[in-house]
Amino acid sequence: MFEPRVELAAPDAASLWFIFAGDSLIVRDRPDGSCEPLSGDLALPIPDAPIPLGVLDGRLAYAATIESKPPLAPGLSATSLRALHARMDASAFDAASLGAQLAYFAHNYRFCARCAAALAPAAQSRARVCTRCKHEWYPRVSPCAIVLVRDGDRVLMTRQPRYPAGMYGLVAGFVEASESVERCAEREALEECGITVKNLRYFGSQPWSFPHQLMLGFVADYAGGELVVDTSELEEARWFSRDAMPSLPPSVSIARKMIDAFVADELG
Ligand SMILES: [Zn+2]
Repeated sequence: MFEPRVELAAPDAASLWFIFAGDSLIVRDRPDGSCEPLSGDLALPIPDAPIPLGVLDGRLAYAATIESKPPLAPGLSATSLRALHARMDASAFDAASLGAQLAYFAHNYRFCARCAAALAPAAQSRARVCTRCKHEWYPRVSPCAIVLVRDGDRVLMTRQPRYPAGMYGLVAGFVEASESVERCAEREALEECGITVKNLRYFGSQPWSFPHQLMLGFVADYAGGELVVDTSELEEARWFSRDAMPSLPPSVSIARKMIDAFVADELG
């Protein structure tokens, strides 16, 4: 179980560490192929500015960043967060996901955007506070709409050029300034695929720490329009029938949960 906390006591020998080097997390490999966060016997120098994450299975958990990946002792490896989900306990992955966002924030938000003075961690929140003008900057969260568009037994799926061969996902995009997430879902379906949708209903949400999205999932019905793919964003978009689905996104993603619910005819 992972309980996020803003404030924690000082690290001790039993503490858990989520150490990020660039996009990778340094983990301890288990013989069965799974992995776990580092514990008090870090085998690395203790970082100067640990970021409190919370309590993971009764132990204090911290994140920290190091500039470059050090030589790693036997049994340790550096793994991308995307690859971690399949190898790490769910509660540890939740802590890693929070750690990734906070480590990104600490690493990339070092100076005040108002007065250019240095930022420092706030004592009682996730903010970073300007050492001169005292403005508080909070971790950026970027909402994205992701929408499963269906037409009877068919579902609209899209392919981005960066996807593994054969894999398709769902229409998705970032919410723009002063836009509702529902309007964003409708706009993305029109912009990416040239179609209009109706009967939009909320499915659920998921933090997506690559690096700081919040995915807001919707199901919608096809309303009209010819499929016209925006090739500046997508490689392809097409309809798939429930009994002939392509390769799907990994099970960690809300896209996969929505597609699985469609295939199981659980979307109502
Ligand atoms: Zn300032």
